[in-house]
Amino acid sequence: MRRMPPTRFVTDASLAEVARRLRQFGFDVELHRGARLEELLEAASRDGRTVLTRSARRPKRWAAVAMLQVGGADPAAAVRAVVAAAEPSGGPLSRCSHCNHPLRVRSPFEAHGEVPGRVARRGGPLWSCTGCGQWFWLGTHTEKLREWFEGVLGRPVAWPESPPPPAPHRPPIAPAP
Ligand SMILES: [Zn+2]
Repeated sequence: MRRMPPTRFVTDASLAEVARRLRQFGFDVELHRGARLEELLEAASRDGRTVLTRSARRPKRWAAVAMLQVGGADPAAAVRAVVAAAEPSGGPLSRCSHCNHPLRVRSPFEAHGEVPGRVARRGGPLWSCTGCGQWFWLGTHTEKLREWFEGVLGRPVAWPESPPPPAPHRPPIAPAP
């Protein structure tokens, strides 16, 4: 366990891809499309957030507001820099990558009609977004995501668990002749 309190960010559309990745990792990242740096600083000051920005500019008026500058060209490098400097609000797959609201664990019963039947029947964790209603489940897409983060960070990443596969069927033991 690391020692920092979680850092909540606010950023603009120039880091939209980085914001999406950070949310998938569990960071709270609000996106203000088209906002100027001063507007981000004002929002950060109001909500107790840290400005995540590509800008090296630092208006004097907002000197007290926390800022983290990252490059925008390489999302992997930016994610690595943020993970090194800040603590996420939750684990991977705890926030919606589209709208940043927290995800809520749902039962297969509630998922009926919302996710593909094979996903509901398989069991295992299911989530829906408390903001936009989008459903999430573990699959090859989340496995790829985990591999992406592990490649970028160069270490294993704790990930929500899939249920164990069903025990193999054992044929009855044939009576000895
Ligand atoms: Zn959402």
